[in-house]
Amino acid sequence: MATFPPSVQSRVVTDEDVKRTYAADAGPEPRDPARDVASDYTVVRARDVADVVAVLEHAQATGTPVVPQGARTSRVGGARATDGCIVLNVEALDAIETIDPVEGIAVVGPGVVNAALKAAAAEAGLFYGPDPASTATCTIGGNVATNAGGLCCLKYGVTADWVKALDVVLPGGEVMRTGHRTIKGVTGLDLTGLFVGSEGTLGVTTRVVTRLVPAPDPALTALATFGSLDEAVRAVVALRLDRHRPSLLEMMDRASLDAVRGFGDYGFPEESEAVLLVQSDRPGHTAEDVARYGELMTAAGAVEVAVAEDRQEADLLLQGRRVLSTAVEALGARIAEDVCVPVGRLGEYVRGAAEAARRFDVRIPVSGHAGDGNLHPSIVYPYGDAGARERAWAAFDELMQLGLSLGGTVAGEHGIGSIKRRWFAAEVGPREVERQRAIKAVFDPSGIMNPEVVFGPAGRVAGAAGPAT
Ligand SMILES: Cc1cc2nc3c(=O)[nH]c(=O)nc-3n(C[C@H](O)[C@H](O)[C@H](O)COP(=O)(O)OP(=O)(O)OC[C@H]3O[C@@H](n4cnc5c(N)ncnc54)[C@H](O)[C@@H]3O)c2cc1C
Repeated sequence: MATFPPSVQSRVVTDEDVKRTYAADAGPEPRDPARDVASDYTVVRARDVADVVAVLEHAQATGTPVVPQGARTSRVGGARATDGCIVLNVEALDAIETIDPVEGIAVVGPGVVNAALKAAAAEAGLFYGPDPASTATCTIGGNVATNAGGLCCLKYGVTADWVKALDVVLPGGEVMRTGHRTIKGVTGLDLTGLFVGSEGTLGVTTRVVTRLVPAPDPALTALATFGSLDEAVRAVVALRLDRHRPSLLEMMDRASLDAVRGFGDYGFPEESEAVLLVQSDRPGHTAEDVARYGELMTAAGAVEVAVAEDRQEADLLLQGRRVLSTAVEALGARIAEDVCVPVGRLGEYVRGAAEAARRFDVRIPVSGHAGDGNLHPSIVYPYGDAGARERAWAAFDELMQLGLSLGGTVAGEHGIGSIKRRWFAAEVGPREVERQRAIKAVFDPSGIMNPEVVFGPAGRVAGAAGPAT
């Protein structure tokens, strides 16, 4: 176990059971079962910035890898312990320092939960846009590190569109400030943008300045069922072209509807191939918008359209979508995927996933943020079945390849983490990997920041022949 200065020693978790809970995240089991459990790692729960500084001084001096950690909801193995590392959890840095309606900003610690920032903004009549489905648990620091998206990106963009400035502790303990709190500011390179989405590979974020905007209206919902995927995709395209873009546009395919039906009765007809959920939150125009969205979906071929007339009905329509994650988890172990393809090619992707499910004998319900072309297939297999696990990972590779072949990307919003390194390299190519490694080295010359994610440890080539996990 690492020996820290006395100020930090009391933050080290000593209970082995508690330690283990900080070693895992919400990503899938690694491909290689031998790598399931990390050894010889230390967990530090920082209480303040001084703790973070002390840990990064120590880590740099001793060459110890550091895994920054928020709420551990990473879907890609980005926040899990690795052999010999320090897991540096910053959830306790959860102060909401400022909500400033005049400047339109919030200043928060990295451990502030996404939903808590939304609630604090709402109290001041303001709105913070990014809304991952994990909003109730994930932290703003984690959202910044992964450039998180969510259900409302279609209208409000991703985390990068909302972050104005950061405090980051670099390896060695220097506190660096990026960006501007002012409404405008264009001095120099956009280092805030560089840190957003860097998955803890450059430093540890200890303060975030976000943009806030005037609050929209409470959303109303329309739900449509479709007899064919092509009609559902046609509706998605029509909705994207509408002058008043929906604030949410989600899709569930037949396998997702089967999973939800197995879980409870949410009123989805057996014969549906796809369901779309659409919302408007446009101040003063929600009812008018959802009625028009309903007409657009009917024109595209929807079999049935239900339009909520009030908030309660709107919430009821969303319930089937809300239970989907739990319904899929009840089916077995899962690899949650996150490809993003051009919107017009959504149907090809969903059909390809269904074909892969048949061939590899696994279940692959596909759902997601159709309005962004961002789908989340879940590759599901029985717990403890080694053969099925292997087939599931083979299906995963095939879905990565399929996404790329359709002109998409292997990571829409969850990041690369440790599970997609090979596919990151496949998408961007070896020269780009080297360029990005060189940029990392400017901030992290010893390569100690989250070295198992994105690029992989220096010296290892993260190409097609690189390590599988
Ligand atoms: C049920 C469920 C639904 C989800 N839905 C969505 C969704 O709709 N959209 C979406 O984008 N994601 C979604 N996710 C994924 C996940 O919630 C996001 O990636 C989230 O941003 C991670 O936040 P976290 O606090 O849990 O971070 P962690 O999981 O703890 O860490 C994630 C990454 O950020 C780094 N990190 C964390 N904190 C810091 C910090 N302070 N400084 C530097 N690096 C840091 C870690 O090293 C790691 O690489 C979902 C996950 C689950 C389990």
